[in-house]
Amino acid sequence: MADATSECNIKVLCRFRPLNQSEILRGDQFIPKFKGDDTVIVGGKSYVFDRVFPTNTTQEQVYNTCAKQIVEDVLGGYNGTIFAYGQTSSGKTHTMEGKLHDPNQMGIIPRIAEDIFSHIFSMDENLEFHIKVSYFEVYMDKIRDLLDVTKTNLAVHEDKNKIPYVKGCTERFVSSPDEVMDVIDEGKNNRHVAVTNMNEHSSRSHSIFLINIKQEHVETEQKLCGKLYLVDLAGSEKVSKTGAAGAVLDEAKNINKSLSALGNVISALAEGTKTHVPYRDSKMTRILQDSLGGNCRTTMFICCSPSSYNDAETKSTLMFGQRAK
Ligand code: ADP
Ligand code: MG
Repeated sequence: MADATSECNIKVLCRFRPLNQSEILRGDQFIPKFKGDDTVIVGGKSYVFDRVFPTNTTQEQVYNTCAKQIVEDVLGGYNGTIFAYGQTSSGKTHTMEGKLHDPNQMGIIPRIAEDIFSHIFSMDENLEFHIKVSYFEVYMDKIRDLLDVTKTNLAVHEDKNKIPYVKGCTERFVSSPDEVMDVIDEGKNNRHVAVTNMNEHSSRSHSIFLINIKQEHVETEQKLCGKLYLVDLAGSEKVSKTGAAGAVLDEAKNINKSLSALGNVISALAEGTKTHVPYRDSKMTRILQDSLGGNCRTTMFICCSPSSYNDAETKSTLMFGQRAK
């Protein structure tokens, strides 16, 4: 894998989950074939990524290979974004969050929380840190604050430096990994209360956890800021044209639009030659604008099911990931 300081700061990583119980009972085939540590073959076609994680990869391995470096970069004043893309049930939430309070099964976000504070404790004691987090979701192009249920339609504004931000979004100062976990638990509870079918809802909205780190040297007053967006995207599956109608179809179109807007931004950035990056095509890409591309650290997890039953979706997910390369 390329070093984080190298020129291309967009990394695309592919992770396959294991077959689940119902897939095994149905007699589904296990379709991916893994080659080296960067190639997966599906349906006779090879897909190459910065890294491919086969089904037996642990949460710790995923974190150490792909996310750990970003923590150091953000503490060094860079911005970053980590996404999880894939159809519903492909392992996005498992990768981003995992089981929050289980040291083996916890995903990237809780590991980042732990790592940030352990770094801070080992750094120059003349540095003063201010860490704040926000947690919100984007559903049907509306931004809902997961830390304040009364805020259901927040707007994206630009600050005096033309940097977009979600205006009025709750910010919580945190001073330990446990406090970060408490905020995540709180947001997840609010989300549960606000919707009737949590699984369906979470597959149709993008959830975004933002960590903002500001440091100041107590003597020189020199300041350094970095922020990290952690994004669990809406499910990328196509809704069958015949089956869906009304609100479900509207949702599906909206998700499709926001995911393709994201794909267009990432591929424009990956090409590196384009002068126009279409950030303004969706609310999500507007929010993420100053944390994608350029000097930023961008990592995209392409999450896949290994089952023959999901063959078509898996191929389309892999193709999405290839566009970013
Ligand atoms: P998504 O968020 O993409 O809809 P989830 O992360 O909720 O999917 O995963 C669906 C199910 O599969 C969950 O029960 C999750 O624990 C399990 N799962 C996902 N990825 C893995 C993995 N790499 N190893 C073991 N179980 C996994
Ligand atoms: Mg999920």
